[in-house]
Amino acid sequence: MSKKLEGRTAFVTGGSRGIGAAIAKRLAADGAKVAITYSRGAEAAAAVVKAIEGAGGKAIAIQADATDPKAVQAAVDKTVSVLGKLDVLVNNAGTAIPKKFEETTLEELDQVINLNIRGVFIATQAALKQMNDNGRIISIGSCVGERMMTPGLVPYSATKAAIRMFTQGLSREVGDRGITVNNVQPGPIDTDLNPASGDWATPQKAATALNRYGKVEEVAALVAFVASPEASYITGANLTVDGGTNA
Ligand code: NDP
Repeated sequence: MSKKLEGRTAFVTGGSRGIGAAIAKRLAADGAKVAITYSRGAEAAAAVVKAIEGAGGKAIAIQADATDPKAVQAAVDKTVSVLGKLDVLVNNAGTAIPKKFEETTLEELDQVINLNIRGVFIATQAALKQMNDNGRIISIGSCVGERMMTPGLVPYSATKAAIRMFTQGLSREVGDRGITVNNVQPGPIDTDLNPASGDWATPQKAATALNRYGKVEEVAALVAFVASPEASYITGANLTVDGGTNA
């Protein structure tokens, strides 16, 4: 049986752990060749590649800090030279520094803005130089880019709100190539960044209609659909997978 991403090649930023690793595995399971980037976690990235190849897929891992334009362009170019082409970009790498706004330092602000917004711009510009017509640009925003859920996330949620307009604006610039641009907005998902245990988890869980954290695979399933040919008429959209957080 043919898989829905057979013949496609995907590039996932921050694919060594958490949501990015699940996306990489799911895209590969659906037939795509996958390149993942990471910043520090070489071992974790190698484990993702091993898992994909163990399941009969094809993957490579490339060290490339998402805030470094030269490294990201080199990673995109390497993806094309090793895997043949580029059809799908997943802007996944991101971070949060939960803290009251007044206590947040300028260095912490820069860190969040650099990775969550500038990093998305960098990877998208690099990928667009290589992307085929009918490609897919999928960014991982957040439900808090639309409506605040808990205190302590002001810079983070502002960057995720910016992804909404990045998505809408860019969709109008690349639509004539058949390239779609979409924003997948998860709710609380159990990862190293946001573990489903501890004090901070309780209000997040309570904010969902389903009264639970989501699993990384539940985000990956939506990304895989948006990456597929079936989603060819969805663009400029903000798609939530948040357990009803904003319901
Ligand atoms: P994790 O912290 O669990 O994983 C982050 C991944 O990004 C790792 O693979 C990490 O690799 C990589 N990464 C971090 N910094 C960089 C960098 N500078 N350059 C390249 N790669 C980097 O995060 P999540 O999986 O939880 O989050 C993934 C995305 O989902 C983020 O954009 C986040 O904002 C978003 N999101 C997460 C939610 C959640 O509840 N978990 C909810 C809504 C959105 P390495 O170890 O090598 O640094």
